[in-house]
Amino acid sequence: MKFVLIAHLKEDTMSGISAEYIWFDGTKPTPQLRSKTKILIAGETPPIWGFDGSSTNQAAGDNSDCVLNPVFICPDPIRGGDNILVLNEVLNTDMTPHETNTRAQTSKIAEKYKTHESLFGIEQEYTLLDPFTNAPIGFPEEGFPEPQGPYYCSVGASWIFGREMAEEHLEMCLDAGLAISGINAEVMPGQWEFQIGPIGTLEVSDHLWIARWLLFRVGEMHGIQPSLDPKPVSGDWNGAGAHTNFSTKTMRENYQAIIDGCEALSKTHELHIKNYGDGNERRLTGLHETQSIDQFSYAVSDRGASIRIPWQVAVDKKGYLEDRRPSANMDPYVVTKLIVETVCSDLPQ
Ligand code: ADP
Ligand code: MN
Ligand code: MN
Ligand code: MN
Repeated sequence: MKFVLIAHLKEDTMSGISAEYIWFDGTKPTPQLRSKTKILIAGETPPIWGFDGSSTNQAAGDNSDCVLNPVFICPDPIRGGDNILVLNEVLNTDMTPHETNTRAQTSKIAEKYKTHESLFGIEQEYTLLDPFTNAPIGFPEEGFPEPQGPYYCSVGASWIFGREMAEEHLEMCLDAGLAISGINAEVMPGQWEFQIGPIGTLEVSDHLWIARWLLFRVGEMHGIQPSLDPKPVSGDWNGAGAHTNFSTKTMRENYQAIIDGCEALSKTHELHIKNYGDGNERRLTGLHETQSIDQFSYAVSDRGASIRIPWQVAVDKKGYLEDRRPSANMDPYVVTKLIVETVCSDLPQ
């Protein structure tokens, strides 16, 4: 009998799957990604789980338990098979949203304005760093590489650094079923971008947080540390942003609604800037394809404006607007919530 029981247990364990529980922590001013693995029985719905909030800046040591509540699940492209990635929101032990849970608020706003059928496409820029020197890969040990100009969307070993990693990340996002819509090499050496969207308000952030986690995870395999710092190299080098492209159903049909959206955003510039990522003042200087942090402007095709209306949108007289202000390290739940609130509360239902 004993032998049978052990064999039975072994079989169960073998049919288990790995669920990587992912969340972001309470590190200030910019939350960091965390994850840990839970073995589930095949077919089991990922349950709520706990963690030590005192090790993630989310709780004090004498009252340290926090709750992970699964909100988005996708295939795990790293472990493969039936294994899954599980994105979580953080709850207190009384099941109320934890103060670091920015998703809960966004969920309410997305529901409130759902008749506007908002869509978002986020361009996530990032910089690949050598984890020992903290310099972007492609930068020489001393001095600087050739000035900006040839690197953006380039081809060739003189200008491209980290393509293998960017390609691997793309493939993983696709395997995970994320709504990734493209990648490109950026203006500074070692700098890249991927785009998520266009998809709905909560979905774009859920997908983006998973895509960020995959980026850091792929980096481990390459011995490279991705950075979401808004200005990883000071001076005459482009910073890293997270341009947030936005449309409502009306904007996708009517140009005036896009102008109305820009006008609405002009009234809440300061509030948005406060919530668009830490260190953004180092990036939004008015140079390097940005508008100054203390000025607001919108224009067709203008990469020096706060909001750009893409030329194709101006030609078609319908489409979307691009908010160029968010920095690479922004929290997409916060940014999308603010945009929906500002623009949709100004528009007729
Ligand atoms: P650029 O680098 O020229 O600013 P990208 O091609 O990198 O532009 O990004 C454009 C983004 O716009 C994509 O992420 C795409 O998902 C998004 N987008 C396209 N159409 C819409 C739309 N109707 N609503 C919201 N976002 C959109
Ligand atoms: Mn882009
Ligand atoms: Mn870009
Ligand atoms: Mn852009």
